[in-house]
Amino acid sequence: MNAAPDDQSQRLRQLLAEADSREQQARNRLAEVRSLQQGQSADDEHDPDGVPVSFEWSKAQAMLEQAVAERERLQRAVDAAARGAYGVCAVCGREIDARRLAARPDATLCIECARAQELQR
Ligand SMILES: [Zn+2]
Repeated sequence: MNAAPDDQSQRLRQLLAEADSREQQARNRLAEVRSLQQGQSADDEHDPDGVPVSFEWSKAQAMLEQAVAERERLQRAVDAAARGAYGVCAVCGREIDARRLAARPDATLCIECARAQELQR
C-alpha cells in the first residue's frame, strides 16, 4: 500500500476541484465567444481587422476538451481512492510507482503499461 492514503485522497480532491473550475472557466469562455459570434454579421466575418471568432472558438473548444478530460481522469482517481484502489495499474494490477504518482496524480497505468499503450498508438 502507498503511505498516507488520506493525504493522497485529499490532494486528489483538491486537484479535482481545480480541474472543475478550469472546466467552468472554459465553458464561460465558450459562451463568451458564442455571443461574439452571434453579434457578428456575415460581413464582419470577412473583415480582416475583425476578431477572428472562429479561431477563438476552436481555442476555447480545445481548452474545454482538455479540461473535461483532465477532470474525468481525476474523477477516476478519486473514485479509485474511495475504493482503496488508487495507485494500482488498471491494466496489470501492479502498484504504480510513487514517483510516477507524485508527478501524475491522475495516472491509472503503471509506467510499463503506459509505455505499451503509447507504442500502440
Ligand atoms: Zn501496469
